[in-house]
Amino acid sequence: MTLTEALVRTTRVALTAATLALFSVAQPAQAQDDGALVVTLLGTGTPLNEPDRFSFSNLVQAGGLTLLIDAGRGTSIRLGQLGIPLGKVDGVFLTHFHSDHTIGLGDVFATGYIRVPTLGGRTEPLELYGPAGTARLAEGLRLAFKSDIDTRMLDEGVPEAATSINAHEFDEGVVFERSGVRVTMFKVLHGEKIDPSVGYRIEYNGHSVVFSSDTKYDTRVIEAGRGADVLVHEAGAAPQDVMDNPIIQNILDHHTSPEDVGRVFSDAQPGLAVYSHVVRLFGKDRRISMREIVDRTRTTYSGPLVVAEDLTQIIIDEKGTTLLRGGL
Ligand SMILES: [Zn+2]
Ligand SMILES: [Zn+2]
Repeated sequence: MTLTEALVRTTRVALTAATLALFSVAQPAQAQDDGALVVTLLGTGTPLNEPDRFSFSNLVQAGGLTLLIDAGRGTSIRLGQLGIPLGKVDGVFLTHFHSDHTIGLGDVFATGYIRVPTLGGRTEPLELYGPAGTARLAEGLRLAFKSDIDTRMLDEGVPEAATSINAHEFDEGVVFERSGVRVTMFKVLHGEKIDPSVGYRIEYNGHSVVFSSDTKYDTRVIEAGRGADVLVHEAGAAPQDVMDNPIIQNILDHHTSPEDVGRVFSDAQPGLAVYSHVVRLFGKDRRISMREIVDRTRTTYSGPLVVAEDLTQIIIDEKGTTLLRGGL
């Protein structure tokens, strides 16, 4: 048995012990108040325009609510794949303003008020939560789509309220409490010049999921993620032959090394550690592989770990944590 095989086997045993069940196909997600907290990773990629990894976006369903954590590229496509109408999104929570986390927001906003049942036909304002800068983004979106807004109202009878965005700005702390769902914002360090940048912890019915979003190694993620059922973390890594390249160094200086992510997971001890938004850089003749990143993570962390794919779904309920799709 190779070391890798041993680690994979260890992971599988740990997953079984944590009552994780593996299936091959994601189930359609339905917003229903059955006591479960359902997390679906809609987009697990980065700014790279890869068809199988849209940029960062996550769906959290709990207490009958449909919430998004970031809205990167392809958010509306992935929601469509799940049969969730865009107009039925109850709130969007932004972590920071890099475009790979926000570029799908215009789609959620402007397609969500079209009066077609499959799109949801939102009649109320879109509720948008985030750090300082959220209101400016909301204003800019409404300006960018002003001609569409005017036309839809005049020609299709879209109510004016549906074309509004209620922007809620926070520094940190509890930012949302409704139907038993609590969302807490915490600060992270994505880079000295990328401020603000935050993560979120979502709690419902004794279940919890934490998103680091984009960050360097930050003990605040450990504090927020301690004992969570699921901790979703990013990473960044490059092949050794380009590690002296200043552009590569600058990119990596905005993310967490696989070894440090392992330290975060080891200290926070989530029920399940999840990789999403992994920045895999290119070397002189190849791109660093996910396998290498997992192996490096395994030097500092031996608990349950899964590499999310787009539409990886995790159901947290009284039976434990059930994983639908996911690799490595
Ligand atoms: Zn970023
Ligand atoms: Zn990002």
